[in-house]
Amino acid sequence: MQIYLNPCPMCGSDDSELVTPAYLKNKKRCDFQEIRICRTCGLVYKNPNIPELTGFEYDIGSWGDGKEFGERLSGVASVLSQQIKTNLKEIIEIGPGPGWLAKEIHEKWPDARMTLFEPAVEVARIAKKNVPGAAVIPATFDESGWPGVADLVLMCGVDYLLPNIRRTMRKVWLSMADDGVIYIERNVFVESESFVWLPIQTQYDLIGVNSMMSTWFNFEQYREWLKMFFYLLSWWEYTVGGSTIHGFLCRKRQDPVNYWAGKSWYRENKLSLSRLQDDPDPEQPMCKPWYRRMIEGSTHKGG
Ligand SMILES: [Zn+2]
Repeated sequence: MQIYLNPCPMCGSDDSELVTPAYLKNKKRCDFQEIRICRTCGLVYKNPNIPELTGFEYDIGSWGDGKEFGERLSGVASVLSQQIKTNLKEIIEIGPGPGWLAKEIHEKWPDARMTLFEPAVEVARIAKKNVPGAAVIPATFDESGWPGVADLVLMCGVDYLLPNIRRTMRKVWLSMADDGVIYIERNVFVESESFVWLPIQTQYDLIGVNSMMSTWFNFEQYREWLKMFFYLLSWWEYTVGGSTIHGFLCRKRQDPVNYWAGKSWYRENKLSLSRLQDDPDPEQPMCKPWYRRMIEGSTHKGG
């Protein structure tokens, strides 16, 4: 069983305190995994992270009928095609889901070679149908050992799920061309008030509703995190299902910063966490419609 024992991914500190035991699928508590807050920089993260115990898998039901996501990603592709003027030879997407963004991007740069890394095999099959011109690898980017050099990397709603975000971001950085760009989207922050169709009121809403989630930055802290690997070219935000989604277009830094040694967000993040209500009954799942759809659509096969 793969176990990730991580120091704080942002600052490297081992000095952290317990926020809550991690949640498993259907709201049960994990006996081993914990959500902790770094006392040095304030990052909230899961440690240890044991993906096999988490019991949550994405499948095609996770994206609903695609209406909201499809429209949003079409807009993203248009903005990217305006902002990235150069000819791209090699494009990768990490966690493409059914391939909706990849399809739009492929139409904008039809001559570029495209590789998609989608670990949920059933979803990867659909991505292959939706983007027949792309190579689809049914594995995580980490597992794939991809040997290429990317001019454009796409990572939308993915990095908060990574069990070792620091190691994966370093691998992504290493796989980029010197003048390569990356587009990252995230709506998971310590102070987030809503995920898509899901208001965040309790600790479970923020931390447990998707038990694969692994890192919760403060928004300002996240921008500083990105700057450790990349130069921020532009960023924007838009709203889907009541959730504010932040998009960041970045260019590769030639020398990444090792560990963060600046401002701490510990107090701000503790305050953000303190706004959350306790869950009324830890044994009683409070499934909201969007999440219920995810559970019922899931084809979990793990232990
Ligand atoms: Zn830290």
